[in-house]
Amino acid sequence: MPGVTRAKLAAAAGRGEGTGDAARDEAARAALEAWFARVARDLPWRRTRDPYAILLSEVMLQQTRVETVVPYFERFLARFPDVRALADAPVDDVLSLWSGLGYYRRARGLHLAAREIVARYGGRVPAEASDLRSLPGVGAYTAGAVSSIAFGRREPLVDGNVARVLSRLDGLEEDPKSAAGARRLWETAARLVPDREPGKWNEALMELGATICAPRDPRCGDCPLRAVCRAHRDGREAELPVVRAKKASPRVRVVAAVVLHEGEVLFARRAEGGLFGGLWEPPMVEAPGLSAARAALAVAGLPIEGVRLRSAGRVRHVLSHRDLDVLVVHGVARDRPVVPSVLAGAYERAAWRAPDAEGFGTSTLARKVLALALGGG
Ligand code: SF4
Repeated sequence: MPGVTRAKLAAAAGRGEGTGDAARDEAARAALEAWFARVARDLPWRRTRDPYAILLSEVMLQQTRVETVVPYFERFLARFPDVRALADAPVDDVLSLWSGLGYYRRARGLHLAAREIVARYGGRVPAEASDLRSLPGVGAYTAGAVSSIAFGRREPLVDGNVARVLSRLDGLEEDPKSAAGARRLWETAARLVPDREPGKWNEALMELGATICAPRDPRCGDCPLRAVCRAHRDGREAELPVVRAKKASPRVRVVAAVVLHEGEVLFARRAEGGLFGGLWEPPMVEAPGLSAARAALAVAGLPIEGVRLRSAGRVRHVLSHRDLDVLVVHGVARDRPVVPSVLAGAYERAAWRAPDAEGFGTSTLARKVLALALGGG
């Protein structure tokens, strides 16, 4: 940590209560940058300055762990190496490569964003955060990340990890999820982001939150910011950031029907815009039991009336706002029922497909259902 002694850091920590002062901020920057230069993980998106690859990585990393993202990122980039390749692809191909990564709205947003980058910016990802923010699915965080990391613009960013680090570093009392708390965090991030290598600083903050400044039991003893951190100084690491108690997600009962005919399964495609929009799955409906589910699937136009269905068991699937308790039923259709071209309700069309066919997107829930019904899990 050249030029930054422990004594300087400690002296800086005592100054600038609340807003921080320039010397303390400078000490924090030097300490964090030196630490990041030493420990930064070697990740595929850190080996490139290609704005498209960085945009892709930032979208994939939202609410998803680094280890999960790496193979998806590499497959996606191999299949769609640039903005135009992604823009030209059918959405089913995009969702297919995203299958299992969750939060599929991100994939649809990225696909639309690629089309807009081609239409409005000639296929080049824009550098300014304000232009990036105008793209579908690109929020303040992603815009700040791409603008700072790929283009070296002095743009701040705040994600969950950064919110935690900054709340503790400055001893912020506001709930990060409140409007006032979010505003304060963005102001703090904007104050701290340096002119020189702002992207590295942003990455370092995120890395610190991901690896050291954990939600529970932060490893302050290993933290490069411990000498300037207000929460650590005051022994309040466990209290900050202030978190409102989360309401329990409502339990929702669902019935999923896996109907087989000669090795193929009846799949239905969710209508765009809703939960799991654009993904294919064995038909499923919210229902307390099988007979209600049969009625609802018949109303939707799915041809399963004559099929004898029996239980294969249950799967649980927890989404951000709902806890799905899914009864999985399965059966064999003797004659191949004709699939209507248009469906009603949550589904827009249906098709018979091999359960492991490629080229269409399926959710993790759909794969859990199939594994249970077909004996793979
Ligand atoms: S000293 Fe502790 S609480 Fe403060 S930023 Fe570091 S890990 Fe987080």
